[in-house]
Amino acid sequence: MQAGFPNIDLKADALLLDVDGTLIDIAPTPEEVVVPEQLRLSLHVLWDHSQGATALVSGRPLASLDSLFAPLRLPASGTHGAQLRARATSSQLEFEAPLFPDELRRELDHLGQKFAAVRIEDKRYSLAFHYRGHEALETALVTELENRMKALPPGFELLRGKAILEIRPQGVNKGEAVRRLLRYAPFKGRRPVFLGDDHTDEDCLRVLPEFGGIGVAVGRDLKGAAYRVNSPEEVRHWLAQLARV
Ligand SMILES: [Mg+2]
Repeated sequence: MQAGFPNIDLKADALLLDVDGTLIDIAPTPEEVVVPEQLRLSLHVLWDHSQGATALVSGRPLASLDSLFAPLRLPASGTHGAQLRARATSSQLEFEAPLFPDELRRELDHLGQKFAAVRIEDKRYSLAFHYRGHEALETALVTELENRMKALPPGFELLRGKAILEIRPQGVNKGEAVRRLLRYAPFKGRRPVFLGDDHTDEDCLRVLPEFGGIGVAVGRDLKGAAYRVNSPEEVRHWLAQLARV
């Protein structure tokens, strides 16, 4: 892994950017993050100079991305690949995962009574179970969810993260989102350059070789990244320089 950033050709490359921890500093809650005005400006110029091939690839829903960066609106994949908008101005999505079935949500909500310390988060396309600070519950919760999964229609999987379990549709992740995005103009045929900071971003890094792409890890080493930089601040500085081209 090389320190620093790769060389970019805005006429031939597509810039694909994770948001939290990559473009902006992580805050105690997702609502408290701040988008510096200079970043908004850089992204607008880069979007323009790349003929629209600058996109956000985030775990946040599109609505959250749009309000965070308003008035700027960019092509984006939201909710870990569950939503895709290939053109900034389009109101139509190129892809949207099926919504998490209401019936299942209601059924799984009952688990809240059995596991009072577990916080259930409705992510529209998936259901997440947070148990930070209550790690002793993990085994029982996994067993319970695995049993419930047997009653689900096919097409769902149980993902295990750090103090979080999530039931989500199979094949919906940031890596698939990048594959999908690169099927559409103006991204099609370009070399993807992806920047990310998290293990969920490794799904993107894994698909980059299919497109001759390059990955940049921010703040930590990530599998599949060719470059590594230290902080979102460095990323913002680099983008500001690129935008001056
Ligand atoms: Mg991130």
